[in-house]
Amino acid sequence: MTIPAFDRLLDEARKAHAAHAALREFCPFPADLAPIAITPHRSGAADLMAARPGIAEPSLAGLRDDFLAAADCASWRDTYRDTDIGEDFLARFGCYCLIGEGGGWRSAQMASYVVYMPPGLYYPWHQHPAEELYLVLSGQAEFYRAGAPGALLASGDSAFHAANQPHAMRTLDQPVMAYVLWRSDLHVPPVLTGGEPANLSGLGELP
Ligand code: FE
Repeated sequence: MTIPAFDRLLDEARKAHAAHAALREFCPFPADLAPIAITPHRSGAADLMAARPGIAEPSLAGLRDDFLAAADCASWRDTYRDTDIGEDFLARFGCYCLIGEGGGWRSAQMASYVVYMPPGLYYPWHQHPAEELYLVLSGQAEFYRAGAPGALLASGDSAFHAANQPHAMRTLDQPVMAYVLWRSDLHVPPVLTGGEPANLSGLGELP
């Protein structure tokens, strides 16, 4: 049995996939979706996201709102629980899965998530073998990739991370909510890669 808020979210994700070239070009919308049961798990970030979701352009407001509506029945992840990332990050960084482990459907072709960061949060350098696309749903953030200039991205902008390319993010005075797709190596979680914190005056390159 699936959850109505997740069914609506999946429909909206499918529509967004058809409407946004960056998503379509990353991979086709999966054709092998199989429903899986969700065990809800709350996170402090769920409350932060509800209180201040950020401004979205019209074509992405529906997906933003459906991620908000499904947040109460989602299994919020704690990927970095056993790392030294720090209590502030653990308390304020949010992520839950739509398609993939902990989400409402399984697929061998693609995983998808929402990521939320309130204002003034730094997501340190990390990497994973899956290739990744971020599409900013609402708000804005600085995005960094090793070997490339950093950039301030807002609703409708996207960022591609190659397999095992370290990347980092920073929010300033706005929150950010992003729709995240993975393809290829879906079952290896991200790991922190170290390195100096990124900022727009000392961009991108790892030391
Ligand atoms: Fe990533």
